[in-house]
Amino acid sequence: MQDKLTLMIPGPTPVPETVLQAMGRHPIGHRSADFQAIVHRTTEQLKWLHQTSSDVVVITGSGTAAMEAGIINVLSRGDTVLCGDNGKFGERWVKVAQAYGLDVQVIEADWGQPLDPEAFRAALEADTAKAIKAVILTHSETSTGVINDLETIARHVQAHGTALTIADCVTSLGACDVPMDAWGIDVIGSGSQKGYMMPPGLAFVAMSERAWEAAKSSDLPKFYLDLLKYRKSAQADSNPFTPAVNLYFALEAALGMMQAEGLEAIFARHARHRAAAQAGMTAMGLALYAAAGHGSPAITAVAPADIDAETLRKRVKERFDILLAGGQDHLKGKVFRIGHLGFVCDRDVLTAVAAIEATVQELGLHTGAPGAGVAACAAALAG
Ligand SMILES: *Cc1c(COP(=O)(O)O)cnc(C)c1O
Repeated sequence: MQDKLTLMIPGPTPVPETVLQAMGRHPIGHRSADFQAIVHRTTEQLKWLHQTSSDVVVITGSGTAAMEAGIINVLSRGDTVLCGDNGKFGERWVKVAQAYGLDVQVIEADWGQPLDPEAFRAALEADTAKAIKAVILTHSETSTGVINDLETIARHVQAHGTALTIADCVTSLGACDVPMDAWGIDVIGSGSQKGYMMPPGLAFVAMSERAWEAAKSSDLPKFYLDLLKYRKSAQADSNPFTPAVNLYFALEAALGMMQAEGLEAIFARHARHRAAAQAGMTAMGLALYAAAGHGSPAITAVAPADIDAETLRKRVKERFDILLAGGQDHLKGKVFRIGHLGFVCDRDVLTAVAAIEATVQELGLHTGAPGAGVAACAAALAG
């Protein structure tokens, strides 16, 4: 049905009317006082979201640009880095680091499993020569719906003494607690189409003082993504290049909504939606893909045993206008993913679970009592 599509994918995520309306204005000059005021306010809002007193810079691009910028601004030619890889995005940071000729050591975990913090501790303790310059990992691994233990891994990096922690928080920021300063994270990359409740187009890089210090001597090639330029401009409430002006309107509105809701309430909502999605799937006999206890608050990956996940996903889209995400790479057809990130309310999750349940029942694959998924989901939402 026209105009009825509900996005339940991990990006782009649904955008509130308030944010769409904020965007739908004429652009203003990016060197004007009015725009400077917006840059000033959004910079403060971004620090609030990251729970940091350090600078957060905004670039025009997707989340990958933020992570690439983070990597190339704090590292130098030939540096050794330790990358965590337990899914599609972990894999991507290995490729980015390799593209810049870094010496990449990889700590892997099977897809669906979390990274083992002990493996990081062991590798970092063994590095008495202090060759490892950074540990790069994904907090919420969107491809598998697994949340990695960033807090513990960051603590091991701090014990190492010199390595930096570079974290992809694209689907954890705005979904669960990511206190950048308290956890001692040096670089956090994120993108507007995820927890920010915005359309795609803006990328954010938050850097600690240690990371900005490293940026001064970093010699990897960069021009557009030279973050020192962005920091210098930001200090004058400006941008080095033409920013996506209308997306800044959206950013101010979206972050304003997030501030009105409050971080604790936002995190509680995402935790509740994770519990509700998991309970609903389990009650209708569908297996969760992420290891128990390690599910992401932003996304639930489901591995239906006796049916092609793409068939189920397409049916839900055709019948109910709800878009779920498919599996990536070797998980295609094996897994579908329910995004519950950003502007998502209890009704959205309950409806998605009901639509999936109706489809599973129709296909004759429901192994629980009819309606058991919805009942379990509703119970979880009620707390
Ligand atoms: C979406 C996403 C990204 C960024 O992808 P882009 O398409 O470049 O915005 C990075 N990491 C994770 C974990 C993601 O979910």
